[in-house]
Amino acid sequence: MSDWSALIRDVPDFPKPGIMFRDITPVLADPAAFAAAVAAMAAPWRATPPDAVAGIESRGFILGAALALELRCGFVPVRKPGKLPGRTLSQGYRLEYGSDRLEVHVDAVPAGARVLVVDDVLATGGTLRAATELLRRQGAQVIGADVLVELVPLGGRDRWDDAAPLRAALLM
Ligand code: IMP
Repeated sequence: MSDWSALIRDVPDFPKPGIMFRDITPVLADPAAFAAAVAAMAAPWRATPPDAVAGIESRGFILGAALALELRCGFVPVRKPGKLPGRTLSQGYRLEYGSDRLEVHVDAVPAGARVLVVDDVLATGGTLRAATELLRRQGAQVIGADVLVELVPLGGRDRWDDAAPLRAALLM
């Protein structure tokens, strides 16, 4: 099994001074590492796979689509504002400085569909929280959340605070 985690690259002062950005693009560029990373994300869900994976724009699309193929389920994009062509539901959330918004199609999944929410990195947890609220408002049953990397010191897991399990393939 490839040690995919060794390929994550630390980029200091991105996107702002004082932030250490964990760059997963070298993992994606290496076929064995990419496959191993997706297999690690899929492992907890293989026994009872979701009906759909919902990936958060934009790196959540890359991992989420691969995971959906691995788990043989559908893929739903959770997008930044104004990108989806059909009728949408929208959910705002706070960032450290300012706010942001996510959108999903009103008919993204049938009512009660079992959905797994996916992103690349869990930092403070606001993005995953907002995507989960949005999918629940849309009628999905969120069975859990799955990230490649959890940045433990940033406390995103405390913000998650949900009965549905949050899984991370790697803790940093
Ligand atoms: P949160 O809402 O603070 O948990 O931030 C998570 C979102 O920001 C995810 O969509 C990530 O893609 C992105 N993000 C935050 N920190 C990093 C990082 O160090 N590397 C890659 N993405 C990050």
